[in-house]
Amino acid sequence: MFDLIVRNGLLVDGSGAPAYLGDVGVKDGKITALGKVEGEARRIVEAKGRVVAPGFIDPHTHFDVQLLWDGAARPALEHGVTCVIPGNCSLSLAPLKAADRQRVVGMFQQIEEMPPAAFTEAFDWTWEDFAGYRAAIEKSLSINVAPLVGHSVIRLWVMGPAAQERAATPAEIVAMQDMLRECLRAGAVGLSTSFVDVDENGRPVPSRFAQFDELDALCAVLGEFGRMLQCVPEFYDTDLTIARIDQLSDLSLKHAIPTTFSPVFDNTATPNNVPRTMARVEEQFARGARVWPQMQTRPIDISFSLLRPSLFFARLPRWVRILRQPLEQRLAALRDPDTVEKMVADLGPDGGARMMGRLIVRGGDAAPEAIVGRTLSEIAKARGEAPALALINLSLENGLDVAFLSANAGHEVTERIGPMLAHPLVHIGASDGGAHIASFSTYGDTGYLFSEFVRGSGALTLEQAVRKITAETADIWGLKDRGRLAAGQAADIVVFDAETIGRGEERPVFDMPGEGMRYVRGAAGIDTVLVNGEVAYAAGAYTDAKSGVVCV
Ligand SMILES: [Zn+2]
Repeated sequence: MFDLIVRNGLLVDGSGAPAYLGDVGVKDGKITALGKVEGEARRIVEAKGRVVAPGFIDPHTHFDVQLLWDGAARPALEHGVTCVIPGNCSLSLAPLKAADRQRVVGMFQQIEEMPPAAFTEAFDWTWEDFAGYRAAIEKSLSINVAPLVGHSVIRLWVMGPAAQERAATPAEIVAMQDMLRECLRAGAVGLSTSFVDVDENGRPVPSRFAQFDELDALCAVLGEFGRMLQCVPEFYDTDLTIARIDQLSDLSLKHAIPTTFSPVFDNTATPNNVPRTMARVEEQFARGARVWPQMQTRPIDISFSLLRPSLFFARLPRWVRILRQPLEQRLAALRDPDTVEKMVADLGPDGGARMMGRLIVRGGDAAPEAIVGRTLSEIAKARGEAPALALINLSLENGLDVAFLSANAGHEVTERIGPMLAHPLVHIGASDGGAHIASFSTYGDTGYLFSEFVRGSGALTLEQAVRKITAETADIWGLKDRGRLAAGQAADIVVFDAETIGRGEERPVFDMPGEGMRYVRGAAGIDTVLVNGEVAYAAGAYTDAKSGVVCV
């Protein structure tokens, strides 16, 4: 007697092998039979005319905090994602002493654009160590989680405020090694670090104060467990990225560990970035190093209003400072002619034409209908103002609630991106799920892979695309019983329609703690999602199943 049988589907098993018609039998959370499965089951999932594939694995997320109140990491699960890896980019919520919480919350707010209420209103901080955090999320998981531990928080644990001031002493490095070992024993899938991020005061995050001997010592501990080092390199500069690839490769070879870096973007302004990066990656793999570049599938679209700080202004420190202020002060600054003059001057002699002209007014509650869908340069011209000034004035006239969209700011040329995603050494990921929630929707990249690059350009076959986000991901990260339809594997399964799988429209919702806003997308073409053998999502609705686990 099976617990469940998925019947009559087109099985795409994750290995890359050709799809075949068959059934999948599930018992006790595992796949126990494949092919023509005879016998009874408590539940049948009919999959005629549908693809049956291993659940998708998202290797680059920041669901650390959301998992404390939403064990499904909505809407990731409804897109067919059955395992997420949070804790990227040097930041995790453990190990973290009570006294340091505010510091790390500040970093999450700055780097991942999370609202403060997300850290104060929806859960109790019951933990300090990694095992305690694990226990806190495990109480109600609907999705599987393979959490990274952040270098910045380990450093903060050992060094306190000095973590953001100086290099570590030999004794401190040993203490960090001990703490990393403890986290890996408690279920961490690896260590994340960052070479680029800053905190809310513009100061480099703790991991950036590490000298090479510290990173080397931590990688030695990863080597004891064969675990992953994830890092954010200086991705805006190809030469610096290549230097990091070399450094990661040396660490990979010396300690026999996998390493991965993200993001890798394509941009028509720097068309040689990806080819040069990949050439170096190929050289290093040929040496035996494992240095996996992570690439997202979707183009870069950023939305923002002046209601809150945004990634869009990252290179305009004055704007960031002003938009970070409480509403009253922010409004006062935006109404002050001297301040506005300086803000506009920051854009240079073109008044923001190059950076802001292509922005599109996407709406917002107060945006006048007549300007929705128009570009800022058109609007600015009609108003006789510089684009940056028009952006400020238009926002002021409408209570700041005008949303602007910077569309296709990179990674947008399908003919270029398809072959890059198909490259055998490109690790598809970097969704940033759960982060940048008011800037863009980080969900639906998996659906987009199928709609654009399998059905659309045909750069990948169905089997290749499935393999890239299932078995290949599991292998890269050492998740031994995930990512394949095979006997003995965990029954993480997604049933979808190959003809319609895709991502829905991006839309704002107000479902964050404290009614915070975020952009989300629904999925298209996903019928059923099983997590460890339980139906977690079916026919457009989440179930009550809490079958997710920390799966490392
Ligand atoms: Zn990230």
